[in-house]
Amino acid sequence: MIDHEKSKAKAIFEAGWKGHCPRCRQGRMFQTWLKIQDRCENCDLDYRFATPDDGPAFFSLCFVAFPLLFFVVWLQVVLELPVPLVFAIAVPLMAIGCLLPLRPVKGWLVASQYLNQAVEAGTKKLWSEMHAREDEAKRDTPDS
Ligand SMILES: [Zn+2]
Repeated sequence: MIDHEKSKAKAIFEAGWKGHCPRCRQGRMFQTWLKIQDRCENCDLDYRFATPDDGPAFFSLCFVAFPLLFFVVWLQVVLELPVPLVFAIAVPLMAIGCLLPLRPVKGWLVASQYLNQAVEAGTKKLWSEMHAREDEAKRDTPDS
């Protein structure tokens, strides 16, 4: 991996983990726990490009819920715990294990979308409008 890709991966990781804007790395990405801001309060980045959709739930399910499910089944098989006790352990473990990663995963997907300039099929017009508006704003400010 070349240095540029390493720094991009690091920027994506940090922006998602901390919930910071992927452009200025100062403003907040999230308005509430999982809702993305409309615009960055610091650099005015328009977040309309951010379309992680079901990505956070999918990755949370694949990388957290399935391993936890195997762990719970392993607990049952090896320790032969009573079924109500398995449920008492499994339900909170699965709920917390699936909910906690949602925000950082969503942040990583949005930061990755921004830094890789990933465009969802059919949104090229939206991107060009957004960039045209940003270019116009840059032309209007004399010191940029
Ligand atoms: Zn920003």
